[in-house]
Amino acid sequence: MAEKSYSVLIVEDDPAVRNLVSTALESRGYQHTAATTGKAAIACAATTTPDIMLLDLGLPDIDGVEVIKRVRTWSNMPIIVLSARSDDSDKIEALDAGADDYITKPFSVGELLARLRTTERHLSYRSENTAPQESQFVNDSLIIDYAAATVTLDGKELHLTPMEYKLLCLLAQNVDRVLTHQYILREVWGTSQDGDLASLRVFMGTLRKKIETNPSRPRYIQTHVGVGYRMVRV
Ligand code: CA
Repeated sequence: MAEKSYSVLIVEDDPAVRNLVSTALESRGYQHTAATTGKAAIACAATTTPDIMLLDLGLPDIDGVEVIKRVRTWSNMPIIVLSARSDDSDKIEALDAGADDYITKPFSVGELLARLRTTERHLSYRSENTAPQESQFVNDSLIIDYAAATVTLDGKELHLTPMEYKLLCLLAQNVDRVLTHQYILREVWGTSQDGDLASLRVFMGTLRKKIETNPSRPRYIQTHVGVGYRMVRV
């Protein structure tokens, strides 16, 4: 059972998927409501203020990406995309519009519930963070001291280049969110040229050598092939 009863808005026009999702949510004690069109989803998000939105992209009236953009004008609620669109470009478009995560159809109930648990952890950090921003980021044995601009792993200070440090901070500030290559390039390098992807990979490689015990099986930073990277809350 979910410890706190989170409310979930399901936005899905396919009754079979909607029923599957609502049955799964009910089994774990989530409150839930459903909308079958994009316009109804936006209205529902504004009036019932759910904690989390599960959003199909192919809706009968307006596209799901448009729903994300509209909701993001006033709300930070986590949005998890559930979509049959499996192209990287579709995932990237949804993430860049402000989605927090995506699940490709067909998906298992187990996967859906796991992503919801991740999102809930993210939500509980957010509510803790209504206090002033922490000056330290702690993720298991990795610690970033923002004030001192230092990083330690298992108590030992790491020597990062300024770019590696910037990249690590960006991932840490978005812990548990998938960041697209374009977003990272824009935020860290101030550019989004495709050619820069190669240098991003190089920086990620050297950063991993410093923060991961086994860089070929990274614990802290996951690769989403063709999409981007995510720092995992260990
Ligand atoms: Ca659909």
